Amino acid sequence: MDAVPTALTIAGSDSGGGAGVQADLKTFLACRVHGMSAITAVTVQNSLGVSGFYELPPEAVAEQIESVATDIGVGAAKTGMLASAAIMAAVAETVQRLGIAPFVVDPVAASQHGDPLLRPDAVEALRDVVLPLATLVTPNLGEIALLTGVEVRTRADMDEAAAALLALGPKAVLVKGGHLAGDDAVDLLHDGETAIEFRAPRHDTAHTHGSGDTLASATTAALARGATLAAAVAEGKAFIRGAVAGSFPLGSGLGPVGHFW
Ligand code: PLP
Repeated sequence: MDAVPTALTIAGSDSGGGAGVQADLKTFLACRVHGMSAITAVTVQNSLGVSGFYELPPEAVAEQIESVATDIGVGAAKTGMLASAAIMAAVAETVQRLGIAPFVVDPVAASQHGDPLLRPDAVEALRDVVLPLATLVTPNLGEIALLTGVEVRTRADMDEAAAALLALGPKAVLVKGGHLAGDDAVDLLHDGETAIEFRAPRHDTAHTHGSGDTLASATTAALARGATLAAAVAEGKAFIRGAVAGSFPLGSGLGPVGHFW
């Protein structure tokens, strides 16, 4: 059997199974890569929201990354919930020292319910310590405002947001315009030279828990299989379209995107 591609998620656990590490591992499997996890925090969560979270010690996060990278190897990695400035510093040091790449950063700040997934002091570390290492950063509009101060209201604002994010040091940015008004959902991939627009018809559902994680992990899986960045984002977009179409109600709140049905 040929070597199986590998991908690592550095992220938080969702006890409800719809987002976070659980979504990433399901996505890695569905995208035909072997998934590994370095857990940063354990959230207490169901379909109604996140009622709390417990961080792991930063050295426990760094040791998980080092353990798998030095034995199994990491074809590509992604980050989700990083929780605190101290965990971010440990992740950045380890990823840099071990030369882990491609490195996709999903700058998770809050759940779709608005529950915080980041300590307030961690935004600066996300911007200054983690983003400069990213092959690709995948913020939604709220995360763009938090990281750059740019409020995206129109398609033209997305170009300004891309430039402001690229100035923070990532090699490329995927501005996710899903929350903008319009019939199509528009995302913009920009690497400082070339811009590619991805358009997809909107799918009307409230059950999109885990959609950001799933897009980032499907893109990471494609990178682990050797795709170019543009091809990987196209694969990620195709996968999330299918997953949103397969979303389903669960509990009495927001259901998750579906991976297999
Ligand atoms: N819980 C964890 C551990 C996550 O990583 C995320 C998103 O990255 C969420 C919850 C929030 O997911 P959503 O915004 O889709 O509700």
